[in-house]
Amino acid sequence: MLGLMQSQPLLISSLIEFAERHHGDGEIVSRRVEGDIHRYTYKDLAARSRQLANALDREGLQFSDRVASLAWNGYRHMEMYFGVSGSGRVLHTINPRLHPEQIAWIVNHAEDQILCFDLTFLPLVQAVHAKCPTVKKWVALCDADKLPADSGVPGLTSYETWIGAQTADYTWPVFDENTASSMCYTSGTTGNPKAALYSHRSTTLHAYAAALPDVMCLSARDAVLPVVPMFHVNAWGIPYSAALTGCKLVYPGPAMDGKSIYELIEAEQVTYAAGVPTVWQMMLGHMKPAGLKFSSLRRTVIGGSACPPAMITAFQDDFGVEVLHAWGMTEMSPLGTLCTLKNKQLGLSKDEQMKVRQKQGRSIYGVDMKIVGGNGEELPWDGKTYGDLLVRGPWILDTYYKGESPLIQDAQGRGWFPTGDVATIDPDGFMQITDRSKDVIKSGGEWISSIDIENIAMGHPAIAMAACIGMPHPKWDERPIVAVTLKPGAEVTREELLHFYEGKTAKWQIPDDVVFVDAIPLGATGKMLKTRLREQLKDYKLPGL
Ligand code: AMP
Repeated sequence: MLGLMQSQPLLISSLIEFAERHHGDGEIVSRRVEGDIHRYTYKDLAARSRQLANALDREGLQFSDRVASLAWNGYRHMEMYFGVSGSGRVLHTINPRLHPEQIAWIVNHAEDQILCFDLTFLPLVQAVHAKCPTVKKWVALCDADKLPADSGVPGLTSYETWIGAQTADYTWPVFDENTASSMCYTSGTTGNPKAALYSHRSTTLHAYAAALPDVMCLSARDAVLPVVPMFHVNAWGIPYSAALTGCKLVYPGPAMDGKSIYELIEAEQVTYAAGVPTVWQMMLGHMKPAGLKFSSLRRTVIGGSACPPAMITAFQDDFGVEVLHAWGMTEMSPLGTLCTLKNKQLGLSKDEQMKVRQKQGRSIYGVDMKIVGGNGEELPWDGKTYGDLLVRGPWILDTYYKGESPLIQDAQGRGWFPTGDVATIDPDGFMQITDRSKDVIKSGGEWISSIDIENIAMGHPAIAMAACIGMPHPKWDERPIVAVTLKPGAEVTREELLHFYEGKTAKWQIPDDVVFVDAIPLGATGKMLKTRLREQLKDYKLPGL
């Protein structure tokens, strides 16, 4: 017997319709590429998203055709989130930090038909447009008077002229909720990038889950600043969850330095911010020496790579901001776990709580996880045993776009996505990543977590950033070394830093050496690129060898 409730597909257009009707005067504030601050409301966003949908119809775009963006976090980009997907097309958000060759490759792979870009990226578009034959229209996300006269990009149109020619009368089409809505290529350090193709259903369910109190806890009382880019896994789904909750949104545009972000947080009384650790490192680096404080920020969600405990403590003790450590992947839309304490942990000492807070957290309803050993056997949740982390759920990838399914079948025939992360899970369900499987250091048959080694170094007051890698060793197979950058004006010797490890980890896990570098190579999404660091240190020899 079927239930007798209304059957309505979960569509992205329903989010913007809801926001317009119930939070119409909710504010969306954006710093623009032009440098000024732009303000409007969810009502304006909804109307302009419909104008964009009309413009796409006028171009003759078909259902499921791809429309690409090369853009910062801002209101026009958000209009694309709703106008493109809501009208049944697929939004392809491109990471502008990728190499131009890679960008041309993914535009061709996705067969993008229209590409909209912020003027910051004009040089990039000039470099790739001739290599992108599927793109029939190039649109600059700017006013007509900002359009460069001789851009060299054929038929370049200003976004405002393009959508300005259309009315806001438009009825969002209704279709199967499993229809593709957006896509994002993983920044893969080897081989060609692979795309996760999200659906209306996966995106809407993720938006609901992300807003839950033990997840991102978003509400109509928050002012939210997503520093995490809209070109990387849909800014962790915040634009969708924002429409669902009606929170004020504050977009930083191209100004991603510590000073600009701090000033925007203060000026717009932001209560909640989200970003990767490297961004917060820059902001705390700006604030601490100047003795600055936050007047409104209460919580920040940090993920994308391991958040060093020293950062959690600095936010909490020096600035009164609660850090929510999060873990996820492009293939997971991206949220998988978030670290919020359970009731029984509220009475723990600060140190005991800190041990929990530095973990990547508990599963969100909708994400099932397990750790497995080399033969696929499930491993215990004892907080010590580590294994390959597998996940399954309605917003987790089944098959790569035009590619293969990476899923591993269990005895019941259920497919699990192998994350490539190695983790422990404790009896309370808190998961802790010890490494990417390819970054784990194997020393004398035992594993050393590179994240643990990095976290300890980051706790030293002189260290700005630390990356731990394994170096070949004739007896132990591999031994860890730690490459570090120093904070401006700070000093520490190799011996002092190695001494700092004593008592903080087992003796055999202490790195064999410290390498001082000018910069740790970062990838397109701000994560450390250990492959490149290994290349840079290819002639390095461990002491005594
Ligand atoms: P991406 O798909 O580019 O977002 O990368 C996903 C990968 O980033 C994960 O598989 C993890 O290896 C890493 N990652 C994300 N969040 C965290 C975190 N909080 N701690 C450690 N690693 C993380």
